[in-house]
Amino acid sequence: MKVRKPLVAGNWKMNGDIVSNEHLFTALRAALERASLSQVEVVVCPPYPYLGQAAAWLGDTGIAWGAQDVSALPNGAYTGDVSAAMLVDLGCQWSIAGHSERRQLAGETDDQVAAKVSMCIAHGLGVIACIGETLQEREAGETEAVLGRQVDAIARALTGSPNPLPAQRVVLAYEPVWAIGTGRTASPEIAQAAHRFVRERLAQRGYGHADATRILYGGSVKPGNAVSLFAMPDVDGGLIGGASLVADDFLDICRGAAVA
Ligand code: PEP
Repeated sequence: MKVRKPLVAGNWKMNGDIVSNEHLFTALRAALERASLSQVEVVVCPPYPYLGQAAAWLGDTGIAWGAQDVSALPNGAYTGDVSAAMLVDLGCQWSIAGHSERRQLAGETDDQVAAKVSMCIAHGLGVIACIGETLQEREAGETEAVLGRQVDAIARALTGSPNPLPAQRVVLAYEPVWAIGTGRTASPEIAQAAHRFVRERLAQRGYGHADATRILYGGSVKPGNAVSLFAMPDVDGGLIGGASLVADDFLDICRGAAVA
């Protein structure tokens, strides 16, 4: 029996519109009316323009909603950025930070990701901080070196804050880049080894809540593979991309986290 409550977060990426979102929210609400998902913490992360819509549809359901990214800066002349303070002002409970698509497409560095984590901490915004190696790095035997470097930066943010977030609000997501949106999933054993490494590294770097920190797996999670992944001792749920856009699949994955 795991002591950490599983968490499943849906990352909608740059998908959706008012009408299709409404279908998805309606299906999520209807499923919750049929059966509670109280053993799992569920978060959905739509694009920024639809956060208000998420608040309106999910506000009274127990499903939390979050942003896909947050600025590393507090406020000011940073056109296009959205601050942690603004997200909190809106009632947002979570933000993803350091998704591999941001690291790769927007060139985010480990230090910038750490600054985003610090911003979340400073504003009491729950954070889902992403890490993961590319296929090239895995094949070169560099997985632990890459994960270690990424975790060290996040650990510096976690240990350096005068007002740390409670452990339930700090989540890491191991997302091997080669598994994101590719249909190629890490085996449960590969995921477990990486998660164990990440948890031990957090502890070695002085983060006192490593055992209580949820570490999610992300990368082509589907209803058919969710339970075997989530059953691994250090896998505490999932960060779900494509499958989070299909209500039945996302709900099956959430149920998978409850049974695993
Ligand atoms: C993601 O983008 O975080 C992700 C895991 O995507 P997918 O589930 O589509 O691989």
